Amino acid sequence: MKKSIRDFDLNNKKVIIRCDFNVPIKDGVITDDTRLIASLETIQYAISNKAKVILLSHLGRIKNVVDLEKNSLEPVASKLAKLLNHEVIFSRNNEEHVIDRLVNDLKQGDVLLLENTRFQDLNNESESKNSEELGKYWASLGDIFINDAFGTSHRKHASNYGIAANLPSGIGFLIEKELKALSSAIIEPKRPYTVILGGAKVADKILVIKNLLEKADYLLIGGGMSYTFLKAKGLNIGNSLLDEENIPFAKEILDKYPDKIILPIDFKCCDDFDNPTNYIKCDNEIPNGYMSLDIGEKTLSLFKKYIDNSKTVFWNGPVGVFEKKEFQTGTIGICEILKNSSCISIIGGGDSASAIKKLGYEKDVTYISTGGGASLEFIEGKILPGIDCIDNK
Ligand code: AMP
Repeated sequence: MKKSIRDFDLNNKKVIIRCDFNVPIKDGVITDDTRLIASLETIQYAISNKAKVILLSHLGRIKNVVDLEKNSLEPVASKLAKLLNHEVIFSRNNEEHVIDRLVNDLKQGDVLLLENTRFQDLNNESESKNSEELGKYWASLGDIFINDAFGTSHRKHASNYGIAANLPSGIGFLIEKELKALSSAIIEPKRPYTVILGGAKVADKILVIKNLLEKADYLLIGGGMSYTFLKAKGLNIGNSLLDEENIPFAKEILDKYPDKIILPIDFKCCDDFDNPTNYIKCDNEIPNGYMSLDIGEKTLSLFKKYIDNSKTVFWNGPVGVFEKKEFQTGTIGICEILKNSSCISIIGGGDSASAIKKLGYEKDVTYISTGGGASLEFIEGKILPGIDCIDNK
């Protein structure tokens, strides 16, 4: 079991908290502050326990100097100050002598946010390649390290792994919640346990599928990835998305788990992706010249039977092109079924999380993960280096 922030006496200690403030920003304005809100509990706990709080986060990718301007954490500092109702000290100048002075001036309960950790990537990718020197330097600023950036915990970077190697460490409340929710989907789920998988590509999710098929009672497949399975069964899929290379994989698992894998039985199709209003409904197969972009009503009723009978549901990936209103019906339908169900519903991050938020069903599911890649790797059964590096109790 990993140490938690609760296991430390924070009073008068310099506590470095690695957060995930990688939020979308347009023209200097944060367009989705979910990740900031998710980080508040840990920061507030550190403030009220009289720590000197030092926050670190990355934002976007930094490949050249042009990326520096649009990826400053300055907008995050002001938004965070509003959300915390507390001053957040921030300096765009992140030279060591400036940082050292800001850290030395910290008083109990103060909060300092340092500039984007990935700015250090301009120096031989030292953040992303976990430079030992950089990890040591950041660690030298504090007494305790708390990792609360679940979204980057599948990465071995200087700002998580590198700091943890040099300081007593623990996890924050967000990572604790993520681990609890995702573990309930893969370690000891209440049964029947149903997994809904959608999204574009089979290739991205092979390991997830393999791991979940061993654990789940049912796997409902929708979205772009379902057509490769339908093709593997010998059905006509018209011009729908196909992952040709993975047809043998789809065949293999359909043979191995014939009663566990449930595929769509009707579709909403169109002959021109850019002219979506012209869609047709079809059963069983997709006619030549058409591509399916959503599941149909019969499939929704079929999926509903499995979901209504389940105690746990894990969902990753939209079951249709939810970005276009003509092809949102399937994804909305799944949200409605979950809303009216008493099951524990856990949403793997990434596109399923954005779909649920965009469609307004955020409050109708049990838990939405804040990590895209990190949640998937956890579900695949991989060890997350950003969590593995934290001290055990
Ligand atoms: P992923 O990142 O793999 O979860 O894929 C998410 C994307 O899959 C979304 O942008 C959806 O528009 C897309 N998607 C869902 N259903 C389909 C479909 N039937 N055909 C093509 N793309 C789809």
